[in-house]
Amino acid sequence: MIKIFKFGGASVKNSDAIINLKEIVSSNKEGLSVIIVSAIDKTTNQLENVWKNYTVGNINTAIKKTNNCIDFHNEIINSLSLNEDEEFLKIFDSFSNELKEFLENDFKDDNNLSYSKIVSYGELWSTSIISAYLNGQSLSNKWVDARRIIKTNNNYIESKVDWLKTSELVNQTINTKKLHVSQGFIGSNSDGLTTTLGREGSDFTASILASCLSVHELVIWKDVDGLLNADPKWFNNTKILKNISYKEAIELSYLGASVIHPNTVKPLQNKNINLRLKSFLAPSNMGSLISENGLNDREVPSIIYKPDQFLLSITTKDYSFIFEEHISEIFSIFYSSGYRVHLMQNSALSFSVCGIISPFKLTGLISDLQKNYKVKYNEKVDLLTIRHYDSLDVPEFLKSKQVLIQQRSRATIRFVLKNKS
Ligand code: ASP
Repeated sequence: MIKIFKFGGASVKNSDAIINLKEIVSSNKEGLSVIIVSAIDKTTNQLENVWKNYTVGNINTAIKKTNNCIDFHNEIINSLSLNEDEEFLKIFDSFSNELKEFLENDFKDDNNLSYSKIVSYGELWSTSIISAYLNGQSLSNKWVDARRIIKTNNNYIESKVDWLKTSELVNQTINTKKLHVSQGFIGSNSDGLTTTLGREGSDFTASILASCLSVHELVIWKDVDGLLNADPKWFNNTKILKNISYKEAIELSYLGASVIHPNTVKPLQNKNINLRLKSFLAPSNMGSLISENGLNDREVPSIIYKPDQFLLSITTKDYSFIFEEHISEIFSIFYSSGYRVHLMQNSALSFSVCGIISPFKLTGLISDLQKNYKVKYNEKVDLLTIRHYDSLDVPEFLKSKQVLIQQRSRATIRFVLKNKS
């Protein structure tokens, strides 16, 4: 059985975590062809910070923050005793130097291009460390540069995958009988410039590879025991959804269940590839299986709580009805600004939408909409969704919130909430 593993930032957050990864890999190496790894811990956030400084010309601060990231990785390298592996150090240092040279010399106006260039080093660093460490522990593997196989368009921050080209390159590069280590999240466009698939996009990379290689199973290693019916950060007594269908998993991830990236399931469903979510802290537990037939789809209500949403209320300036042509124009603005819609509701005169947007893109979104519409907005509202709600009482904490929007269908009830002032 050919399989792919994906490890996120938390599962490789320090040297102990990387040793734990090695244990998991060595006891599951039968049929394991690719290990996809994210940046270590919160490195991507830190590199986003480097990028922010770079775009406003604070090059010294950008370099200082980069050096902090490098120091952090060097500590891990030392604890894993990789500091004598000359070949590895050459590769690791070349990434670090390349990034610093880019920051010093390459000042360009295109912020999106520099974003993907800068943040990609998180994954380049982590995978070079993990590949070298596994090789040193008799888990022979080949490091693959994901930018050579994941081909995308030029939408650097949230690029779209060129499936045809990607599939061809993946199949040329990866021999499923051998073990490979590669980066999540990053790819490149037709000019070879680095692109990214959107924050948390490493699950999607693993799913792209699983689909292109038609493997039997993708295992995503998490810090929770599988797909839970609610986020334990907010709710007590959560339950694991042990066996659910692709359809239910797509609905849950679309609604905001953060355990899986929303784009992950579709490529797997199309090729009927099993997706397992397992805990890297308790690897012998079964976790959740997502496949064609879900046995537990309706068994328990699922609660998806998404704070920090952005609610927009858009009306025409002359009190004319909101028509399809308006909605089409509004959506093209959403598309170009990267506003991700989670819920919408319209009346004769207004169109309300709740979703998320990168703080960098917010001002542009509002000013584009204001050209033809009156726009009101609420920042930091909550979106609460309950699926299969028939057997569930409305959660207690709702009572301290003001309901701005409520929507109910047969399977799902949703609220947009704000703290009562
Ligand atoms: N490192 C990237 C991020 O933090 C991608 C990922 O972890 O999936 O968003």
